[in-house]
Order: sequence, then C-alpha cells, then structure tokens
Amino acid sequence: MHPHKIYDYIERLSNLLRNDSRRGIAEFGLQPIQLEALHYLSICNRYSDTPMAATEYLGQTKGTVSQTLKVLEKKGLLSKHVDSHDKRVTHLKVTAAGQSVLQASIPSPLFVQGCTGLNAVAQREIEDALEKLLSTLQHSNNMKTFGVCSSCGYNQQNQDGSYLCQLTQEPLTSVEVQLICREHLAAA
Ligand code: SF4
Repeated sequence: MHPHKIYDYIERLSNLLRNDSRRGIAEFGLQPIQLEALHYLSICNRYSDTPMAATEYLGQTKGTVSQTLKVLEKKGLLSKHVDSHDKRVTHLKVTAAGQSVLQASIPSPLFVQGCTGLNAVAQREIEDALEKLLSTLQHSNNMKTFGVCSSCGYNQQNQDGSYLCQLTQEPLTSVEVQLICREHLAAA
C-alpha cells in the first residue's frame, strides 16, 4: 500500500476519534488534551508520572501541560504527591473520580463498536502493524518509545517469577510491568 493511503486512513481515524472524544467528554467539562493527559497518567509507571514525562509523552509545551494538569487537579481527577526520596520530584496520581471519567471515555463506545466488527486475527494484525509503524517513526526521530515495561531491555525476570529493573535496580510488581515507562529501552 502507498504511504499516502496509510496516512489518509490514520488521519481520518484520528479526526473521527478526536470528534467522538470531544462529544464524549463534554459532560465532564474536559478538553481532549486533558483527557489525553489523564489517560497517560493512568497507564504509566512510577518513573513516568511526573509533569516532565507527561510533557514529553504528549508532545506539547511545558506551559500547556502545566495548565492541563492544573485543571485536572482542580476538578479532583488527579492528585499530586511529593516523592518520598527526592522532594523536588512530584508524582501525579489519577483519583477514583479520574478513573471513572476514563472508564466512561476510553475507548469510546464508537471505537469499541468499530473493533467488534473485526475478528481477533484482524485486530491483532492491526495492533502489530500500528505498533511497528509507531516504533519506526519514534526511532527515526530519536524519540522516547514510552513502551510497556515487560518489553524493555532493562526488564529482568528472576527465577522465582519476580521482576527487577536493571536501570534503577528496583523490584517491579507484576502490575508495574504492564505499564508504560519514559525510560523504556526498545529491544535491539
Ligand atoms: S525495566 Fe525498563 S520500562 Fe521497566 S521500569 Fe525499568 S527502565 Fe522502565
């Protein structure tokens, strides 16, 4: 397939999802960027739930992300916590109210409906192809991959089934290895 065709499909899907998301979150008084930030903070690990990491992931300016986080905090959708080892670092945690907004909005009912029209094999093929495309674009732009911890080159699974991050030398839980990380090292 020609790159133009792939681009057209992805752009059309992006517009459709953005418009659908706008409609879905109107009842919560949120903007798409605010939902994106909330979503990111719900799927990232403890090394990545900082304002700086959110800024890198969202690809927005520091000012925009700072305003976005302020709104989310004011609405009670996220809370700030000072790091227990380094007082200069602030962690952002999605509150129960924030989780409720995410459950109602992501993925949107329209998107779920579209996916149920595809069988499991087709869904897997689309997932793999999009993952490959994203990874190629990130590598060619020297961007952080923000990949899932379990696929990271620093992730070590011990004989007893426990996990260790070889970068930080800290243990990881089975839940944490399913989250995304700003320090993720893509396999060579
Ligand atoms: S193993 Fe990789 S992805 Fe997981 S916490 Fe460590 S650096 Fe992050």
